[in-house]
Amino acid sequence: MKVAVFSAKPYDREYLDAANVAEGHQLKYFDDLLEMESAGLAAGYYAVCIFVNDTADAAVLDALKRGGTNLVALRCTGFNNVDLKAAERLGMKVVRVVSYSPNSVAEHAVALLLAINRKIHRAYNRTRDFNFSLDGLMGFDFCGKTVAVVGTGKIGCVFARIMLGFGCNVVGYDAFPTPEFEALGARYALPGEIGASADIISLHCPLTPQTRHIINADTLRRTKRGALLVNTSRGGLIDTEAAIEALKSGQLGGLALDVYEQEADIFFRDLSSTIITDDVLQRLVSFPNVIVTGHQAFFTHEAMTTICQTTLRSVTACESGKPLTNEIKA
Ligand code: NAD
Repeated sequence: MKVAVFSAKPYDREYLDAANVAEGHQLKYFDDLLEMESAGLAAGYYAVCIFVNDTADAAVLDALKRGGTNLVALRCTGFNNVDLKAAERLGMKVVRVVSYSPNSVAEHAVALLLAINRKIHRAYNRTRDFNFSLDGLMGFDFCGKTVAVVGTGKIGCVFARIMLGFGCNVVGYDAFPTPEFEALGARYALPGEIGASADIISLHCPLTPQTRHIINADTLRRTKRGALLVNTSRGGLIDTEAAIEALKSGQLGGLALDVYEQEADIFFRDLSSTIITDDVLQRLVSFPNVIVTGHQAFFTHEAMTTICQTTLRSVTACESGKPLTNEIKA
């Protein structure tokens, strides 16, 4: 099948090409983000393969359909960037990678958490300058602290298991609680209790209209003073300006982000020689107790291998009329 691959970075090409040896599709790589201006590039391609910051809203899907596209293959888990109702109306199939390596994202969340708590980013810079002072580097033991997991699905459960290994009390909140989370030795709690008791909050729920700005001025006011907040899910879960106010007042003790609300025009590219016009991001990275990584939580060899194999197997299944086990419907 002819597949137009958008937002294709060198590592995407490497892993998709490796996975395609077994599938034999015609892959055409485009550096461009999928958006209205670039949708025409997919004319004549039955499938498009897209990533987290590509746009597949109703207008873009309409344009793709006119060009002959009938399959949208997301090479990621989240699908907040696709208008599923519009896809259904147009008779287009949408597939995603339901599960690859939840370990990759959960482990990155833990890496961020350890770094922000023990000030590893600051220590790294200091010792490169032969500054071995410890002033300002104090952290706290994880053992015995309360960790809140918001969204106790695949990634949230792996994260909970790791934090239980540190000796933490793990409490969870989920719109659809599962026995698997409790079987780990964690327990569910109401949002009010989570806010009041958690020393650490980690976000692992999808971005939906219900979860947009789930962390906002009100919820931040009700969190335990000095709590650490980690977001490896989607930027829109946090009202970033409210988080900045909470950092300024000391209500938030630290913030570690792998995702950012306005990341679409910024992440996955080298902007080190340009002037960043996003003042909110500028403000965020200026705090000593904020760490930002550029949506790299998924970025392990194991995850990339599975993502690319699963994506191209879905394309093969669609081509041969087999059931689409990874299809998402409105
Ligand atoms: P999952 O579907 O297994 O788990 C998500 C959980 O969130 C589910 O248990 C679901 O019930 C819960 N949820 C849904 N609506 C909720 C609500 N309103 N309030 C509380 N909980 C709610 O998904 P997963 O594989 O664990 O992935 C979680 C998220 O991680 C994805 O949606 C994606 O946005 C993000 N992600 C980020 C990266 C990265 O590289 N940073 C990579 C993969 C996934």
